[in-house]
Amino acid sequence: MPNGQWANSDRASRLPRDWAARRAEVFRIHGDTCHVCGLPGADEIDHIVAGDDHRIESLAPIHGRRTGPRCHVYKSSSEGGKAAQVKKPKRQRPPEPHPGLRT
Ligand SMILES: [Zn+2]
Repeated sequence: MPNGQWANSDRASRLPRDWAARRAEVFRIHGDTCHVCGLPGADEIDHIVAGDDHRIESLAPIHGRRTGPRCHVYKSSSEGGKAAQVKKPKRQRPPEPHPGLRT
C-alpha cells in the first residue's frame, strides 16, 4: 500500500508497525462511513479520541483532506482550538474612569 503521506512527519513514527493492517480492519468493520457526518466516502482513519490510542475500537473512518466535507480537517482543528483555549489568559477589561471624575 502507499505509505508516503506521513513520511516527513512525526506522526508516522508514533503509529504502530501494523498500522496498515489496523487501518484495513477498521475499513472492513465500518465500511467507508464517516464517523463524524455519517456519509459514505471516508478515506482516512481517525482516532476517535485525540492521542495515541491505536486500538481498533478507538479508530473509525473519516473524510480526509481530499474528500467530501473534509471532516478530519475540521475535527483536528477544533481539537487544536480546545487546547489553545486552555492556555488563553483571562480576558481583562481596561479600567474605566469613575463617572464622577469625568469633566
Ligand atoms: Zn464526514
